[in-house]
Amino acid sequence: MLSGKTALVTGSTSGIGLGIARSLAAQGANVVFNGFGDAGQIEALHTGVAREFGVLTGYHGADMSRPEQIEAMMQYAADHFGGVDILVNNAGIQHVANVDEFPTEKWDAIIAINLTSAFHTTRLALPGMKAKNWGRVINLASVHGLVGSAGKSAYVASKHGLIGFTKVTALELAHTGITCNAICPGWVLTPLVQKQVDDRATRDGLTTEQAKKALLAEKQPSGEFVTPDELGALAVFFCSQAANQVRGVAWNMDGGWVAQ
Ligand code: NAD
Repeated sequence: MLSGKTALVTGSTSGIGLGIARSLAAQGANVVFNGFGDAGQIEALHTGVAREFGVLTGYHGADMSRPEQIEAMMQYAADHFGGVDILVNNAGIQHVANVDEFPTEKWDAIIAINLTSAFHTTRLALPGMKAKNWGRVINLASVHGLVGSAGKSAYVASKHGLIGFTKVTALELAHTGITCNAICPGWVLTPLVQKQVDDRATRDGLTTEQAKKALLAEKQPSGEFVTPDELGALAVFFCSQAANQVRGVAWNMDGGWVAQ
């Protein structure tokens, strides 16, 4: 379905971004990977995806908090892949602390990586998409783009901001073949959430399994984690022809979190 298209997925060396990159590659899209990690492992990861799905892959290690590095990454995609048809703004970080104790450098980093990077990648990808009159911008927001949780001021602000950015981008492109939508996952068991599981286990004297159950019980009625594969399938749907008129939505996949 997506052969001949190129997807760039920020933060795709781990977790949800990796799941989405694999799902898009499974549909035939070439993929530019991005994110941190061990150079050898990243090389093995993206060449493995290329072999598994018979697509082209590449990697650029731009730090999403650095606009000049984002520009270099988009240039790399233009030079090596003829531009970006599917942009998935997924890189994100978390820090948990109450507002009056929140480290200011963590606030700045969360806003830069979770929100401002999407502005830079999108503004740089749009001219190429407009030239082809086809494109998909998919922003990984969160249930925390729709509702709040104590201790997550910067994250919740960044994700609410990302949904606002999604709506405006979709409206500006409404008369084109380019759509922009947000995905809002509930709990997904990735390294980002494993840290919160571990912190809870330590704080409350629980085993890891007990801490996982407690985390889910508090917010996610299904009692099950959402998976990167499920989120990848939603991203594939957004890329399909059936989704041509899905514009500016914030689609939660959250085991019922936001229905409460
Ligand atoms: P993760 O920690 O497993 O992966 C994050 C990825 O982003 C990694 O590839 C990491 O290397 C990369 N990254 C981090 N900082 C970066 C930077 N400065 N520049 C470039 N890359 C950077 O996290 P995840 O859980 O897969 O989260 C992915 C996205 O999904 C995030 O935006 C997160 O907010 C969102 N999300 C996650 C959950 C969840 O429960 N895990 C829920 C809702 C939303």
